Amino acid sequence: MIEVRGLHFSYPGGEFRLDIPSFDVGPGEKLAVIGPSGSGKTTLLNLVAGIVTPARGTVRVADVEVSALGDALRRAFRIRQIGFVFQDFELLDYLNVLDNILHPYRITSALRLTASVRERARSLAERMGIGDKLQRHANDLSQGEKQRVAICRALLPEPRLLLADEATGNLDPRNKDVILDLLFDSADAHGATLLAVTHDHELLPRFDRVVDFADYRSPATT
Ligand code: ADP
Ligand code: MG
Repeated sequence: MIEVRGLHFSYPGGEFRLDIPSFDVGPGEKLAVIGPSGSGKTTLLNLVAGIVTPARGTVRVADVEVSALGDALRRAFRIRQIGFVFQDFELLDYLNVLDNILHPYRITSALRLTASVRERARSLAERMGIGDKLQRHANDLSQGEKQRVAICRALLPEPRLLLADEATGNLDPRNKDVILDLLFDSADAHGATLLAVTHDHELLPRFDRVVDFADYRSPATT
């Protein structure tokens, strides 16, 4: 599902370097990525999602060479194929919870907003414990509630690939279990692949495989 080869990436003007000779995630696989803060975990997810592109090397997702597409095609591909739970949620503060969850459907004609999609949105929110908050502004939510909205938005289009960036980092233990179950169930139901960054070592046994990102950090250049 994901195939990274000979990747080199750096931010303009920044000192950070990411070098990944080879990285693969199989279809339906659930992979956890761990590693110290600043080691490039979020950057990897952004590369896989085509939010940023590598200076060298290739990123293929579902047999599409994402790194070779132009901006507009990368964005279209991302909206259709990838559900991304961002570390900082990236909710639209001026929209209510329901409209945030439905937002992917409003920005592309590739996703059709039908009555059954709306119904699924409500039932997802219900299962996430935010069913009574659909009309609230995203601004007025706690961190944990925002996180759950971000997860609902990522799951609703039933993407083939789920990218989750510390998606349970703001949740209390009880909610964490409920939400992780939902994330895994949802992935299983559609045979989706899950690539999740986590700091939470208690969660690791639930994944098929764990990759430690410390291994990809380039030696400091002098
Ligand atoms: P992690 O998610 O593992 O904590 P990140 O991928 O967010 O790490 O960041 C890796 C490194 O890249 C860090 O040193 C960070 O400061 C730097 N970085 C992240 N985003 C940017 C950016 N937009 N511009 C410049 N440097 C960045
Ligand atoms: Mg990060």
